Amino acid sequence: MQYINGEWCHAASGETYPVYNPATGEVIEQIARGGKEEGNLAIEAAKNALPSWSKKTAKERAFYLKTVSEKLRERIDHLATIITTEMGKPIAEAKGEVNLAADYLEWYAEEGKRVYGDTIPSSSETKRIIVLRQPVGVVGAITPWNFPIAMLARKIAPALAAGCTVVLKPAESTPLTAIEVMKIFHEIGLPKGVLNLVHGEAAPIGDAMMERQEVRKITFTGSTKVGKELAAKAAATMKKISMELGGHAPFIIFEDADLEKAGEGVIASKFRNAGQTCICTNRIYVQKSMAERFSEILITKMEKLVVGNGLQPEVTIGPLINEAAIAKTEDHISDSIKKGAKVVYGGKKPAGELYEKGHFYEPTILLHATHEMKIATEETFGPVAPIFEFDTEEEALRLANDTSYGLAAYFYTKDVSRVFRMSERLQYGIIGINDPVPTTAQAPFGGIKESGVGREGGKYGLEEYLEYKFLSLELE
Ligand code: ADP
Repeated sequence: MQYINGEWCHAASGETYPVYNPATGEVIEQIARGGKEEGNLAIEAAKNALPSWSKKTAKERAFYLKTVSEKLRERIDHLATIITTEMGKPIAEAKGEVNLAADYLEWYAEEGKRVYGDTIPSSSETKRIIVLRQPVGVVGAITPWNFPIAMLARKIAPALAAGCTVVLKPAESTPLTAIEVMKIFHEIGLPKGVLNLVHGEAAPIGDAMMERQEVRKITFTGSTKVGKELAAKAAATMKKISMELGGHAPFIIFEDADLEKAGEGVIASKFRNAGQTCICTNRIYVQKSMAERFSEILITKMEKLVVGNGLQPEVTIGPLINEAAIAKTEDHISDSIKKGAKVVYGGKKPAGELYEKGHFYEPTILLHATHEMKIATEETFGPVAPIFEFDTEEEALRLANDTSYGLAAYFYTKDVSRVFRMSERLQYGIIGINDPVPTTAQAPFGGIKESGVGREGGKYGLEEYLEYKFLSLELE
């Protein structure tokens, strides 16, 4: 169902489409296929709701965010089950994601109260300079399938806190979680039109958002390819944009690192969500002197990973989202083997009846990876860990920065001076230092280079939904 102007509705076309469970191949539900018409209706509703929503006090707006945050935590089991069923991640990870979404809502409920303006000393005795912060207007939010609840919370929460109204378009493959979240906002009486949900045909809905002048902000998380297209279209009406795009994270392990912890870190960073996050490790660089020892440690840890349906509590690696994801993973592995890499763990689809209908792939380690391989430059978005070797810090840095992406990078060391040398020179927006899971509600998440523009999270995330207004007053 679409949620427009506070009401649940079918698509005008009457069409529906199936949402699949990637672990079983079964259809979970047939849902309405919205398009441009629904997009336009939702934008109209958001536009009409804007004056009264933006006039409310931050405290009034915070009530809705705080209450939804509490309800997400109360209903964590139900929501996590929907997430796992529609996108496959293990249930424990799905619960972690619900908590993260609740964190964003809770945090912005508070931070919305701190939208401070400025007074600036004037150069003239008779002038006074004041700067107001005001909501940017109607927001078009487009979210991906790999975090069906956290990504929408991280956009909706700051947008609503700032006083903006929103049209949300979740990914085609994961609309069910978004529908559940809308139900909660509806249940607690969010004024109609403040938050609208349209799902179905991505491009026509996106076009409605891009073409309408009233939409003043586009916030997008997804592929670099689509992000660039949307940024170009947004330019026609000069919308503000936030683009959280692909990544190609290096994970560097220096010889002074705690190898056990680094091994745990690789498992957490590489295999979370079966390798399907934009900050997942893509390239593991190990200092030559201990490369062999490290791969032994890593293999021991990988033996504990369990592939299967994420609803089973013991499962740590769920299915990939679809067959195309499997094909890309296989392509990256075969290209690497052709160019000299060696599979020392995994490297195939798991066998057995349990796995026949889902899109499963074994967690895989490749040794002797080089920068000539596709895996070194293209995002795999699958459970493959290619290991590269390096001699010196300078070489590690050069290799790590050898990519058009700039989202997250990780390194493990105990040397404090190296921590600063590396952090200052790595060309990435997020650096995990002995930390494989840096994401948190109060910190700025986002990338540089072709990984995007803008930040989500923290006070920085709120800025994205605010404009400056400069008042210059001449005294009489
Ligand atoms: P992925 O490859 O991870 O699916 P995409 O960039 O294709 O990443 O998708 C991310 C989000 O962008 C999804 O919600 C998808 O529906 C949406 N999307 C894809 N193409 C378009 C488009 N042309 N206009 C607007 N949204 C789009």
